[in-house]
Amino acid sequence: MRVMAQMAMVMNLDKCIGCHTCSVTCKQAWTNRSGMEYVWFNNVETRPGLGYPRTYENQEAWQGGWVRTPRGRLKLRAGGRMKKLVTIFSNPKLPSINDYYEPWTYDYETLLRSPATKNFPVARPISLLSGKQMNIEWSANWDDDLGGSTEHAVRDEMLKGIEDKVTFEFEQTFMFYLPRICEHCLNPSCAASCPSGAIYKRSEDGIVLVDQDRCRGWRMCVTGCPYKKVYFNHKTGKAEKCTFCYPRVEVGIPTVCSETCVGRLRYIGLVLYDADKVLEAASVADDQELYQAQRECFLDPFDPEVQRAAEEAGIAADWVEAARRSPIWALISRYEVALPLHPEYRTMPMVWYIPPLSPVVDVIKDTGHDAEDADNLFAAIDALRIPVEYLANLFTAGDVGPVNGVLRKLAAMRSYMRDINLGRDPDESIPASVG
Ligand code: SF4
Ligand code: SF4
Repeated sequence: MRVMAQMAMVMNLDKCIGCHTCSVTCKQAWTNRSGMEYVWFNNVETRPGLGYPRTYENQEAWQGGWVRTPRGRLKLRAGGRMKKLVTIFSNPKLPSINDYYEPWTYDYETLLRSPATKNFPVARPISLLSGKQMNIEWSANWDDDLGGSTEHAVRDEMLKGIEDKVTFEFEQTFMFYLPRICEHCLNPSCAASCPSGAIYKRSEDGIVLVDQDRCRGWRMCVTGCPYKKVYFNHKTGKAEKCTFCYPRVEVGIPTVCSETCVGRLRYIGLVLYDADKVLEAASVADDQELYQAQRECFLDPFDPEVQRAAEEAGIAADWVEAARRSPIWALISRYEVALPLHPEYRTMPMVWYIPPLSPVVDVIKDTGHDAEDADNLFAAIDALRIPVEYLANLFTAGDVGPVNGVLRKLAAMRSYMRDINLGRDPDESIPASVG
């Protein structure tokens, strides 16, 4: 066992209200300067939706992440050393400014100077990059306006195979928010893609950083990251990315996005893992087993054997204590309510999510209850507004079983808390099979 420590985050998606406070405070702290206008180290996506940059999940198009060879090895989708060189000198697969969105302001003068007319005047957007008037067709979070409706759903690659569930029935549309930062992966393909060796993973806490002095602006990291969380600063000619707010974390305060999150949904902390298991876990044959393989890399910080191995690995006792106090291991491994985003990219991401339980449609219609009563628990899980298949495409490479398992636990927890608040005995009402 080779114990290492890693900073990680778990986000509880039921609590995200899409206010974008996290994105704005992150921007004010880290990317509020020339060359970074389009950059959001933290962004909050509307789901269903195209994401930011748009369609970043289409790895065939953008060539991010790792693929498993028939012999069980991992190789970068963007290719090996030779292909890397060829790609550098040809045209790397890079999102354009239109895929991120061209930042703009409004031509407020048009409004102010407009003569009285029958209709409201329209403020035209003005590009912050060129200063010219723009005709915008798409921008981040415009998916909100579609509210997950069919027009959008059909365009969304991730909904392939479940169109039946959402076809042309507006009362069954659904949406939720997915906040995203760099995943500070255990097996980061951004670092493996970099020809200059400028991207590195800190051994003490696993935070992935770009050495600005070594970066030569090849942008292979932008191609190589399947989550598209490395950005090119076109003023400095260097790559930049989320730093997990390491200057704050080092003095014991949380990341800006966590501290300012209105929904209080971001749990951060240290987790211990067995570094000897990571490559093997990232190489398992079945995409649907990857989330569990990664989970098995995490170590129980309360296990005396793990504590001994941590000490031998030079991890300070107060760091092990921090891992014990952290909610990360508990949410991922003890209670098994958190799942990784797109484990099939094989980078072993370290931002995990508690999937949204979402409102229950049928139960409300039939009984007036909202699934927080134990009587409705199992009926409720079959009547969720967000299709479980959709969540499974995000978190378990399409396997609905583990997502169902998490949702049952969340429903049981709601029911348990309701019983307590109503002065009832929860042990009487929660079915033992929920666990
Ligand atoms: Fe690298 Fe972050 Fe992308 Fe993972 S999510 S590959 S650590 S930039
Ligand atoms: Fe969601 Fe919190 Fe960000 Fe608001 S601040 S969008 S609640 S993650």
